[in-house]
Amino acid sequence: MNKQRIPIIAGNWKMNKTSIEARDLATKLVPLVANVKDREVVLAPAFTALQTVGQAIRGTNIALAAQNLFWEEKGAYTGEISAEMLLDLGCRYVIIGHSERRQFFGDNDDTVNKKTRQALRKGLSPIVCVGETLAEREADKLNDVINRQVAGGLKDISTEDMKKLVIAYEPVWAIGTGKTATPEQANEVHALIRQRVKSLFNAEIAGGLRIQYGGSVTPDNVASLMAMSDIDGALVGGASLKPESFAALVKFT
Ligand code: PEP
Repeated sequence: MNKQRIPIIAGNWKMNKTSIEARDLATKLVPLVANVKDREVVLAPAFTALQTVGQAIRGTNIALAAQNLFWEEKGAYTGEISAEMLLDLGCRYVIIGHSERRQFFGDNDDTVNKKTRQALRKGLSPIVCVGETLAEREADKLNDVINRQVAGGLKDISTEDMKKLVIAYEPVWAIGTGKTATPEQANEVHALIRQRVKSLFNAEIAGGLRIQYGGSVTPDNVASLMAMSDIDGALVGGASLKPESFAALVKFT
């Protein structure tokens, strides 16, 4: 873990929890992480629970995130949610290009880039997800895929805006499968991402960039992942759905 970069642990609740269930989960979590000061804690409930969760965490050390947004300002885009709507509910972060969105909803490097630029334009901090499938890894395409996703997702972003952005490296084969990348495997890709960002921007931006790991992170494996030089946080699905496990994970030592 690099002390210059404040660790960021985010819970992605995906399509789980009604607004009341989500509020209850957030309410239980608040006292469990109240004394955590040296790392950022973020919750990403479904759109329909942003309001109740936002109320439950108001004034605490937990920040609110959305799981997606649309890149246009407003208008005839049935079913979509704008940056302004997310800001209105108190969101500070927005997850963009999660592999489930790439897999099931057609997100690609171009739309990820449009969403990322819109989030930044509006003052939301994007958590941009990248990661290879098992087939890509086995076909030796890991570097190509990561380089393409990083360059495509971050196209035309200013160095100033890069300071607000977080990248999440999530190998698709490790998401929700119980298979975690080893700390060494993960760190190798984090270093590759940092290198790519350095070549696209500069050493200062690359050095300050926070890169989360995601893929079956649990209270048992978080510390060994966070001990690695280029891992600056975690994006957590399953283990964020219970207050005790997410709190234990946030409090890794
Ligand atoms: C995720 O939702 O981004 C994720 C990594 O899920 P899980 O922790 O369940 O693998």
